[in-house]
Formats: sequence, C-alpha cells, structure tokens
Amino acid sequence: MPTVPEALALMDYGPAPESPAIALDWLKDRAFGHFINGAFTKPGQTFAVTNPATGAELAQVTQGTDDDVAEAVNAARAAAKGWAKLTGGQRARYLYALARLMQKRERLFAVLETLDNGKPIRESRDIDVPLAVRHFYHHAGWAELLADEFPGMRPHGVCGQIIPWNFPLLMLAWKVAPALAAGNTVVLKPAEFTPLTALLFAELCVEAGLPKGVVNIVTGDGRTGAALVAAEVDKIAFTGSTDVGRLIRRETAGSGKALTLELGGKSPFIVFAEADLDAAVEGVVDAIWFNQGEVCCAGSRILVQEQVAERFTARLKLRMAKLRLGDPLDKSTDIGAVVHPTQLERIRGIVDKAIAQGAILHQAPMPEGPGSFCPPGLLTDLGAANIAHTEEIFGPIVTLMTFRTPGEAVELANNTRYGLAASIWSENITTALDIAGQVKAGVVWINGTNMFDANAPFGGMRESGFGREGAREGMLAYLTGDEASGKERKAPEALSPLPGSASGDTVDRTRKLYIGGAQKRPDGGYSYAVPGAQVPLGSRKDIRNAVEAAHKASGWSKVTGHNRAQVLYFLAENIAARGKDLGPKDEVALAVERAFYWAAWADKYDGRVHSTASANITLALKEPFGVMGVICPEEAPLLGFVSTVMPAIAMGNRVVAVPSQSNPIPALDLYQVFDTSDLPGGVVNIVTGPRGELTDTLAKHDDVAALWVFAEAETCTLAETLSAGNLKPVWTEQRQRDWTGPAGQSRSFLRRAVQVKTVWVPYGA
Ligand code: NAD
Repeated sequence: MPTVPEALALMDYGPAPESPAIALDWLKDRAFGHFINGAFTKPGQTFAVTNPATGAELAQVTQGTDDDVAEAVNAARAAAKGWAKLTGGQRARYLYALARLMQKRERLFAVLETLDNGKPIRESRDIDVPLAVRHFYHHAGWAELLADEFPGMRPHGVCGQIIPWNFPLLMLAWKVAPALAAGNTVVLKPAEFTPLTALLFAELCVEAGLPKGVVNIVTGDGRTGAALVAAEVDKIAFTGSTDVGRLIRRETAGSGKALTLELGGKSPFIVFAEADLDAAVEGVVDAIWFNQGEVCCAGSRILVQEQVAERFTARLKLRMAKLRLGDPLDKSTDIGAVVHPTQLERIRGIVDKAIAQGAILHQAPMPEGPGSFCPPGLLTDLGAANIAHTEEIFGPIVTLMTFRTPGEAVELANNTRYGLAASIWSENITTALDIAGQVKAGVVWINGTNMFDANAPFGGMRESGFGREGAREGMLAYLTGDEASGKERKAPEALSPLPGSASGDTVDRTRKLYIGGAQKRPDGGYSYAVPGAQVPLGSRKDIRNAVEAAHKASGWSKVTGHNRAQVLYFLAENIAARGKDLGPKDEVALAVERAFYWAAWADKYDGRVHSTASANITLALKEPFGVMGVICPEEAPLLGFVSTVMPAIAMGNRVVAVPSQSNPIPALDLYQVFDTSDLPGGVVNIVTGPRGELTDTLAKHDDVAALWVFAEAETCTLAETLSAGNLKPVWTEQRQRDWTGPAGQSRSFLRRAVQVKTVWVPYGA
C-alpha cells in the first residue's frame, strides 16, 4: 500500500473530454459562403479549415474576391444611414439581444472555437466566450448612452475590420460591438485559419433580427483583407502583425480613411526581488503559456532581479514541467495545439536561431503524431540581441534575463520597438507604480497579467500600433465629428533658396531657427524670401537637431500639470505684452486668449478610474507622447501656431514645429516670448523651410512619436505614408479650420496630444 505522499506523487488526472458533437453537428457537411446583407451567399472558390489538434478538415470556407468585398461594402453602405438614425436605445436592444443569444449558445461557441483554433476548452469556455459576451453587454450600454456621453459626435459610416486567429470570437466582439454601438455598419474579415465562430455569429445576427447589411462577414486570406482595405470604407480597424499593419498604413495614406492598428508585442514580465515569487511563477503561466503563447500582449520576456533569479528559475522550471500539453477538448489540458503547422514551423525556426545564437532551451521533447503541438519552453543565457529576445515568437516560449537595479529593468523593458503591455511583480507598491510610469506600454499589469475587460482600454504604443479598444476610450475610435470643414488647403508657393544665411550677410540677422532654447542659423546656410524679410531655410539636418533638443528636454514631460500651467500662463501674458510686434491686433488678441485657454487645461485633462470586472483599480492614464512634430497651418500664421503647439506642450509633449511656410515671421518672433517665459529650452523648437522636405524627415524620424499635419493633400499623404516606419499616429487635416472660433480649441487637440496607458492595480482581496 503506497503512503500518502507516494499516492500523491502517482496521482494523475483522468481524461475529462468535452464532446465535440455539438460543433460537429453544426458543421456537418458545411461549405460556407459569406454573410452579406443579412444572408449567406452561395460558396465560391473554397478552402479547407482544419482542426490544428488533429489536422482533420472542419469545413470549407469561401475565399473572398474583390467583388465579394465590394458587395459586402455596398450592403453595409446601404444599411449605414438607417442604422445610424436609430436611437441609441434602439441599437442597444440589438446589442443586448446579440449578447443574450451568444450566452445561450456559449457551449457551441466554446467547442467550435477550440476545434478551430486549438486552444484549450477551459480557456475558450471560461475566457474567450464570456469576455466576448461581456463586450456586447458593455457596448449595448454605450449605445444607450451615446448621445449623452459623446455629444456632437457621429459614426464614421462603414468600417472594414480585419482580425487575427488567436482570439477569433473575442477579436470579433472587440471590433463589432463598439462599431455598432457607435452607429457604424461593418464588414468583418476573420483570419483564414479561424473563421468559424464568426460564421456562427452571423447566424445570431439573423436571429437577433439585426437590420440587413449592418454586419457583413467576408472570409478569405490576406488578399481579401487587402481588398477590404482598398474598398470604399470610412474606417479600417486592424488587429494583426506589425508588418501587415505597416502595409495598411501605407495603403490608406491620403485616403481620408480613419485607421486604428492593434499590432504585435514583445512585452516584458518584470520580477523584483521583493515579489511574491510563487505568485510570479503562476503569473508566467498566465503570461506566456495561456493560449499557447499566441497572445499579442504575452509576457514573453521575463526580466528577473539578479538576487532571486536562481530561485525563481528553479521554481519556474518545476512549474513548467507540470503543465499538461494535449487534447484541447480535454478539460484538464493546459496547453492545446498551435493554430497551424506553419505557425509551429515559425516558432521552431526562431527557437533554432536563438539556440544557434547561444541561448539554452529548456523544453520537453516535441510530441510525435498528428497535430501541431509545441511544449512550453524557457530560453536562458541569451544576450539582448538574441532573436528570441527581439522577435515576437507568438508561441509558448519565454526568454529569461536578469537585471540588477530598477533603472536597468526599465532600460531592458523598453529596449524593444514594441510597446503593447508590461507586467510588474513587486510587493512594494512604490516600486511597482514607479516602474509602471516608466515602461513604454499601453497596458501595465501590477502583480497580474493578461487581464482584460470591456471597460479597460487596450492598445499599444510605438510599433504595437495606435488606437484603443474597450471602454470610453475605445468608443472614440468609432466616432468622429470634429473634422475641419473649411476650404481644401493648397500648397504654398515654391521657395527660392538664397545662399548666405550662415554668413549672415544677406539675411536679416534677427530671424533664425529656434532650437534647444537658442536661435540657430540653418545648417545649410540658406534662406528664402517672404514679404518683407528673409527667413532661414531649414533642412533635414536642422529637423534632426531640433528632435535631439526636444528629446533632451524630457524633464518637461515629467513636471506636474500645475507647473506646466504656470509656465504657459506666463507665456500667454508675454504674448500679450509683445503683442503689437507679433501680428495684426485681432489675431494677437485671439492668440492670447487661446494660449490662456490651453494653459488652463494643463492640469485638468485627467485620466479615469475604470470599473472593471475583477478586483482592481484600473487606471486609464493620459501620457504625453514625448517628442511630437507639428506642421502648422499656412492660414493664421500666429493663431494657427499657438492653437496647435500650445495644447501639445500643455499635455507635456516637446514639439518640433514647422510654422507657416509663406509667413513664418510671427512664429519665429515668438522666441523672445519663450525665452522670457521660463519655458525650458527644447520644449518648443521652430524650423522654417520647405514643408514637404521637413515633413518627410519628421514622419520618418524614429524619435518623433506623433505627428500633426495641417497641410495640403500631398503633404498629408506623404506624412501618413512615411510614418509607417515607426507607426507613429499621424493626424492630418487637408481642410482649413476656423481658428478664430470653437473649432480652433476643440477637445480633439487634447485627445490627440496624449496616449492612454491602462494600469491595472490590485485592490481589495
Ligand atoms: P497577420 O497580420 O498575418 O493577419 C491578421 C489578419 O490580417 C488576418 O485576417 C489576415 O488574413 C489579414 N491580412 C494578411 N495580409 C493582409 C493584407 N495585406 N491586407 C489586409 N489584411 C491582411 O497576423 P496573424 O498571424 O493572423 O496574427 C498574429 C499577429 O497578430 C501577431 O503579431 C499578434 O501580436 C497580433 N495581434 C495583436 C493583437 C492586439 O490587440 N494588439 C491581438 C491579437 C493579435
């Protein structure tokens, strides 16, 4: 007879399989067409959708053509007016109905999702489906409250939505629910590996009596996605890889289509010495071994403080060895199948390279047999340049590195082009919140990881994309209402460069560039003529110098709103004092008012505390981008400059501004105001010259985190196209704004001067 400890050691889980019958019955002999205008079309050219755990075919699905996409967009267009005209309450009822219907068929959705994607049934049943339902309920509420809470705003119209395969139903919910709540109609393209739950959702749309054409679903691969991007839609919302996100940024440049991008990540998981190490080990399980690591915000880089690294690693290896890999339909499976053999190959490819570069892999042997399975793995002994540390693996493999000091942890955490999420483990709230403030990530979890809620904004910084999904902030991505409505902007007259400004011989010596708090001659030594004066001809080099100066002025982003407000009030007073030298009396008077107005906001554009489903205080903080570029409008040379630069710096950004090309004098003359207003050098930098060339440099510059362009179509298109490099958010306006009225101080200047960081702080039990 074994002793109790022996019996415990021998005990294993019995099989606990969920039956696939419910989903297989639904799929029986199905070949799917698209869901367009409230009905399924006849299947066209189809491809097989397979179960990654077995390789068995589940269904045939249609490859969407350009014509299919056009038909779906037409249906959505035809439905748009009627849908937007309903009251919020009426739309809310449809969303409630969808939530309830989804809830009624929870089991079918969960089993179908697991068959299609390979994720463990425990996760699809307990996480994917309930969260998708929650999104519809939550957004039914936003539909109800829309008019009260978003006055003056309206839907974009038709939204093209493209989603990945890792959370097929949940990503649908994140996209469709807010779009419908805001009054848009949609054409959704699910990922080619996992379209089945979207097609089941289409059935619910019929059952819920949703007006025809409000939701359309077109299946297919990247070609279908590209057709949707090119179609006559008003907005594209994309979730997927950074490479495709970049392509879409370029494709939509200059089209006027609104764009949000939720892209890849390489998120740090930071463990401090004082952390609860057992909790942190469980955290890793949720961070990287949840959903086979196919999670955009997976904590895929463990950074652990040196003095506890050995203990932590030992415990982590023990825990890893206990994870159960296998049949995704078994309720005691922890790790299911990777979505597709090609993804498994990709994971193996990166891991092999990491090992060749010196990393050590700790992993159970690859299982034999059918299905795409990858045991959980840990890579140690790697340098910061190792491919596994820099590339998104999108599989159950985590890297581990050590750090000594909090400063080093932040440096390592931010040493990535991504900025989606971060997880921080420390029992010291001061340390945890200090680090939360310093990591470049759209979502930060303290002593937790991979927590999601419909009322918590989710989205990235840097090359993880822009825009937020979920909560009030996410609703804003589906609403518009503040566009400029004036005349189309025209390109200013071409410049004629004149030699000589460097020597100062032919140039009015009082006019120079303003960089780092000092007047500077342009690098190229050229000037150009404007009525009554010659002004410096700035070049790429000057922009680079200005960005460097702005970068160095990072202290401005850290001072309190109160202190910023004081400096800006003083600045406003000084504009008033120098007024008569700066421009026409009326424009100066308005510029003074505007400067006071934005100064007033410096300490008032607050974040929020969101009420989320779990025991957390979920903060939505508004952070400055850092260094911003502003291509100021040609019209209203002084007022336009003040109206655009002031809100950006009021929110804590440092700005490189390109003033009106044809009349930059009032902006250049402001240097005296800046010098006498306690504005630290480098917070505002002014480079005059050919706006096309200067925009080009700002758009491409990796250290410019956001760009505003108030210019003619050509320059706006250029900015959007070239911003695809570091995927900075670009706000372009090709139409003139009435700077003298309310449009000149619209709230959207504040909204576009900050990025939201969501910080989940445990609260209560
Ligand atoms: P992917 O970019 O290859 O595909 C995503 C979607 O885009 C699919 O529907 C695909 O068919 C479509 N697509 C492909 N090429 C296209 C093109 N040229 N034009 C338009 N659409 C095109 O990504 P994936 O491999 O399916 O998903 C994994 C990626 O998604 C990872 O990088 C992951 O980090 C990211 N992701 C991000 C989030 C987020 O919220 N930030 C969430 C989930 C996944």
